[in-house]
Amino acid sequence: MSFDLARVRAEFPVLAREVNGQPLAYLDSAASAQKPQGVIDAESHFYQHGYAAVHRGIHTLSAEATTEMENVRTQAAAFLNAASPEEIVFVKGTTEAINLVASSWGGSQLQAGDNIIITEMEHHANIVPWQMVAERVGAEVRFIPLTETGELDLSALPGLIDSRTRMLAVTQVSNVLGTVNPVKEIVAQAKAAGVATLVDGAQAVMHQQVDVQDLGCDFYAFSGHKIYGPSGIGILYGRKAMLDKMPPWEGGGSMIATVSLTEGTTYAAAPWRFEAGSPNTGGIMGLGAALAWVTEQGLDVIHQREQTLMRYALDKLASVPDLTIYGPQARAGVIAFNLGQHHAYDVGSFLDQYGIAIRTGHHCAMPLMHHYGVPAMCRASFVLYNSEEEADRLAAGLTRIHRLLG
Ligand code: PMP
Repeated sequence: MSFDLARVRAEFPVLAREVNGQPLAYLDSAASAQKPQGVIDAESHFYQHGYAAVHRGIHTLSAEATTEMENVRTQAAAFLNAASPEEIVFVKGTTEAINLVASSWGGSQLQAGDNIIITEMEHHANIVPWQMVAERVGAEVRFIPLTETGELDLSALPGLIDSRTRMLAVTQVSNVLGTVNPVKEIVAQAKAAGVATLVDGAQAVMHQQVDVQDLGCDFYAFSGHKIYGPSGIGILYGRKAMLDKMPPWEGGGSMIATVSLTEGTTYAAAPWRFEAGSPNTGGIMGLGAALAWVTEQGLDVIHQREQTLMRYALDKLASVPDLTIYGPQARAGVIAFNLGQHHAYDVGSFLDQYGIAIRTGHHCAMPLMHHYGVPAMCRASFVLYNSEEEADRLAAGLTRIHRLLG
């Protein structure tokens, strides 16, 4: 079956917009993806017809909302091929998921002198929470360095793992370089050494099928807003045996079994133990619709289409004078670049004038910027709803900026 770009684009209302008098070319989906009408409808349908507090009420609306929310947990478990819905924790996003693990698992399992291994290409969300807990307990954060081509130098890994290594946390896909890391092999090496593993899937789940059991990781995190879902909702997968031994990280309603002022508190089972307070139910309904939408499109179809588009875009960009492209040839989702010596902000501002939305800055990956010796990069992302014409416009826009700025 051939891919019908027009049909896909028609599902995303915002893509019909004009920006600065030009049709919008939205090449910033790696920061946050646009939403198909079905996701927008699912969230608004919930608020219009079924909204109520979950887990608390005996009344019909509350019971229905609770069932729907738990259905999305089951759906997310199936999406990741988790062994059970009880391995799925609703969180705000990838950042909160990693903070939860660093705080709860790290706070209870790490001791002074232990170490955690991350990589040089991590998003700050998979750096800072580890640094914070390491500082608290007196542990050390080590990192797998990058090669010249922007891949992980895995030859360094055996030298980094020792008897005090407790956690290896790695991104599946780099948000800057698009590098697809061999996480299954990395996880296997960590496991062989008795090291726990967390995979940051924020830039991966929308581009390829993910099977957490096949990956073998202990934790997997992703954000709804990058997979065509609402913002403010995300998923933490945790292997049941891990979640079961982790203490709560935030206290409040919904995460308790009993509370007594004299006898203290006992906690609910995982995953509810990690979901204190009223959840983002509207976001959860939207996330359910987003996962269904992606599944309906087919992750194989998405992957193939995006790879075709990416090759086309890289080929077009090769004709732009003075353009430095960062990262390996094989990549997912994003192309990071700089134009001559021009600051990424200037390039991004010009492109905005042409109706082209890209990301500029350090991409929450300052260590990676440091590796390349630049303060900032431009990043264009290409997903299912982008077109060859948009890649043409990006290349033409950059060529024009080069002519204007020299
Ligand atoms: N990790 C990676 C690789 C990311 O790209 C992002 C988002 N840019 C995050 C973590 C953080 O995600 P969020 O802001 O949705 O929590």
